[in-house]
Amino acid sequence: MPFSDIQFIKFILKFFNDKYPQLSIDLISDIIEETLIGAPNLFFTREMVLDNPDFCLKCGFCCRELECSNFNGESCDDYENRSKVCRDYPFYEIGFDTGISLDVQCNFSIKLAEMVIDKRIKPYIDFDSYEI
Ligand code: SF4
Ligand code: SF4
Repeated sequence: MPFSDIQFIKFILKFFNDKYPQLSIDLISDIIEETLIGAPNLFFTREMVLDNPDFCLKCGFCCRELECSNFNGESCDDYENRSKVCRDYPFYEIGFDTGISLDVQCNFSIKLAEMVIDKRIKPYIDFDSYEI
């Protein structure tokens, strides 16, 4: 697993361990690993990117990393004509593989991951709150 993926997973794990201290770290860890590494194609869609533009801080990190000639240091010089890959980012589709780029410096990736994983963890919280 790339070091950047490990960094991302550690960040998300800490976030949910702090948020839901009543849940076991093993349960949280299993959900995170399955969502981000095991089967991201089941949980992330291109529509999520289109539906959540506010998650992007427009920090330019992704463009800077690519050393794209259209990046002027602050924004894209050809924003209207940017490629599908750029429009989709952080969602990716490579053949049948889909998911999100796990980059801890991308707020969009982090917020999408938190949103999806939170929905998956919530049923365990609700179940926990039932009094038997
Ligand atoms: S790195 Fe992420 S948050 Fe920053 S501009 Fe790119 S998509 Fe948006
Ligand atoms: S084309 Fe624009 S949005 Fe795409 S990587 Fe280059 S600067 Fe960024």
